Amino acid sequence: MSVQHITVLGATGSVGASTLDVVARHPDRYRVFALTANQRVDELAALCRRFVPAHAVLGTAADAARLRELLAGLPVEISHGQQALADVASADPVDAVMAAIVGAAGLAPTLAAARRGKRILLANKESLVMAGELFMAACREAGAVVLPIDSEHNAVFQCLPPAAQSRQAALAAGGVRRILLTASGGPFRRLTLDQMRAVSPDDACAHPNWRMGRKISVDSATMMNKGLEVIEAHHLFGLPSQRLEVVVHPQSVIHSLVEYLDGSMLAQLGNPDMRTPIAHALAYPERVDSGVAPLDLFRVAQLDFEPPDTRRFPSLRLAREALDAGGGAACVLNAANEIAVAAFLDRRIGFTQIADLVEHVMQSLAGAPGCASIDAAIALDAEARSLAGQGVVARAA
Ligand code: NDP
Ligand code: MG
Repeated sequence: MSVQHITVLGATGSVGASTLDVVARHPDRYRVFALTANQRVDELAALCRRFVPAHAVLGTAADAARLRELLAGLPVEISHGQQALADVASADPVDAVMAAIVGAAGLAPTLAAARRGKRILLANKESLVMAGELFMAACREAGAVVLPIDSEHNAVFQCLPPAAQSRQAALAAGGVRRILLTASGGPFRRLTLDQMRAVSPDDACAHPNWRMGRKISVDSATMMNKGLEVIEAHHLFGLPSQRLEVVVHPQSVIHSLVEYLDGSMLAQLGNPDMRTPIAHALAYPERVDSGVAPLDLFRVAQLDFEPPDTRRFPSLRLAREALDAGGGAACVLNAANEIAVAAFLDRRIGFTQIADLVEHVMQSLAGAPGCASIDAAIALDAEARSLAGQGVVARAA
């Protein structure tokens, strides 16, 4: 077995930490080539001392200089900025890239890795939502294998016929009828719209089953996360919107299901811990220990299912509308959502205004053409952010 060299984009985040936890359990299999962060210098310094990567990347020159001081004497090459992220994601020695930057900022370095044919462990769903066609085409052309890290998509991947795991066309031949993505329903599953108007950022980040970064936690609370995941599933597995069902399953034990023509449904179950999908993707097609305790079915005892309520969770409806509209609509949805979530976390707008703002920006940019290039995607993303920013000011006033 040869050692795999890994770049972890977004090493200081929640997925980054789970990745490094799994990597550290298997020093004979994995070596860290590069670790990246945006601005948490001390956290990245601690990870560099532990894993001694060949490269470390931060957002700014000033932060990179601070990291150099902190790591004086260690053989870690330190750089900063977008080009450095793309370089450590696509460098020759790299076998696999964990794409765990949050938001649209993850697109460029992940695409750079795809274009060099790297194995992509894809957590950064926003890059697929923003430019799914472009990204999947780049992977096909360069022969890059994409292994989904998002727990639902990883579950689907595990339940697909093996031939369909690498080739969308094989889904039909393999008898797949539908994909069912499970959703916990988030912390506000039982709240009325009125009650949701008063919730705080900390309420929204208190997810019942998962510990995650703050942006995706708010997305789970609005259920935009599930909407983004429907779009993500469309790009990964090639099914149209109407064959991608969402099922609210509050226990988060079944991570998703695949329904076949003969009436069979295959599901993947496990404790809600990201180290399972991460270990699956790192070792694929082998299996390794992830550190996750086996699921105790007697303690779980009961599994519940209910349909999603798009009246109380309009973000889910908006994401489907974006997928159905095609063109640049999903890119606009994603950008507006990132601005709206950041404004909510800064207490500049209320929780229910997140979806209002996204809908407003989608209407303003309706009919935006699809993103044929990364520059086009970045330009449309910027336009939607700017409109959303104006919307925040108007609502905060
Ligand atoms: P976190 O907020 O915990 O971590 C984000 C990481 O990205 C940090 O390392 C951060 O650096 C870095 N980062 C943020 N902005 C930038 C930027 N502009 N340029 C470069 N790096 C940046 O996020 P999560 O780990 O929760 O999520 C990461 C991705 O994985 C998201 O796309 C999310 O949707 C997806 N995902 C996460 C799951 C989870 O369980 N957390 C589950 C499924 C998917 P710094 O620390 O310096 O700010
Ligand atoms: Mg998920």
